[in-house]
Amino acid sequence: MNPDLLLAHYHEIGLKGRNRPRFERALRDNLRRALGDSAGKVRLVSGRVEITEPKPDALELVTRVFGVANVAPVLVAPADLDAIVATALDVARDADTLTPFETFEVRARRARTPFAPTSQVVNEKVGDAIRLGLAKRVDLSHPDVSVRIEIVHDKAYVSAAKLPGPGGLPVGTAGPVVTLLSAGIDSPVATWRMMRRGADPIAVHFHGQPFTDRSSEQKVTQLLEVLSRWGYRQPWWSVPMGEAQREITLSAPSSLRVLLYRRLMVRVAEGLAARHGALAVVTGESLGQVASQTLENMAAVGSVATLPLLRPLVGTDKVEIIDEARRVGSYDISAEAHQDCCTLFEPRDPATHASIAELDEAESGYDIDVLVTNCLEQAQKGSAP
Ligand code: ATP
Ligand code: MG
Repeated sequence: MNPDLLLAHYHEIGLKGRNRPRFERALRDNLRRALGDSAGKVRLVSGRVEITEPKPDALELVTRVFGVANVAPVLVAPADLDAIVATALDVARDADTLTPFETFEVRARRARTPFAPTSQVVNEKVGDAIRLGLAKRVDLSHPDVSVRIEIVHDKAYVSAAKLPGPGGLPVGTAGPVVTLLSAGIDSPVATWRMMRRGADPIAVHFHGQPFTDRSSEQKVTQLLEVLSRWGYRQPWWSVPMGEAQREITLSAPSSLRVLLYRRLMVRVAEGLAARHGALAVVTGESLGQVASQTLENMAAVGSVATLPLLRPLVGTDKVEIIDEARRVGSYDISAEAHQDCCTLFEPRDPATHASIAELDEAESGYDIDVLVTNCLEQAQKGSAP
């Protein structure tokens, strides 16, 4: 059976008042964008989204649009009891052909409809038809199949299977952020988590050229392609930092190098944030994961930030991050080897408890403003993947 259309639902928690229409429009637009030629029209219908003429790949595309709570392929009937019963019977029969079942339930709901019979009457009529017509048993606690009927305005949407969406809020509803995207495992997951909360990331990647090859940049391009399947849509920046790093290594204590690189990254990220009107900077840091991510070091690096520095993975451990990277689809790309700018001139004795004052002192050995300006001048803009 080919569905007449797909019906997507979203959670309504937190959508009261003025935010609601904006959220709904963003969800509709993001669905249109994600679906491209894989569907006809995308339309808001009383707290749901109707997607017409879905091609076979449409269902999966919808399951990657943030804001979607669940999505179901449906058959549409006019809001008329006999038509609903006949359509529900078709849907149940089809579900049985796909995966034979024994027990079922019927769940009818009504919304803004002139249709007179109550949901209970619909449940009973449809239940009887499936019970007798297909010889199935009703089980309201653990049914094999739930036949869902939503009667909205003058139509009834009937489905027997729904897929979970990724939840969250539509990309763009929270505003733009700059995300520090290394080629590692953590930062793509951090970026994905922020997108799920409605942020619209602009990625910046630092590479060690001319002292490293381009492998990290190539990986970042692939990672952005993966993120674009989840709604990443902004340009991104690639920043050569090798010269600045050399400068830092010449004048600062070796134990502070990585932290000083990080401070430079934060400043450059803020320069890019200003260009885009971004409201925060995001990193993939996780407390205690490596020497640079102790509380003291996070504070010492973070003190140069003027925008909120968001660390969505701060309380997450590596096993959880890896699981999530697999779900995102970034893990295999991240796991490949690359030449990383932070391991360039890597010290053997990285500081684990640096202070703000120590880093400030080390920065007085070079002209940080010039390094930031140079990085910003050399930053290359890549187009959205
Ligand atoms: P990841 O797996 O994201 O590389 P990591 O565990 O390797 O993280 P670090 O290398 O300490 O951790 O980096 C901490 C965070 O700093 C990263 O998650 C990322 O947000 C940022 N970062 C590090 N290196 C770069 C880089 N070359 N370009 C952009 N951001 C970076
Ligand atoms: Mg890293």
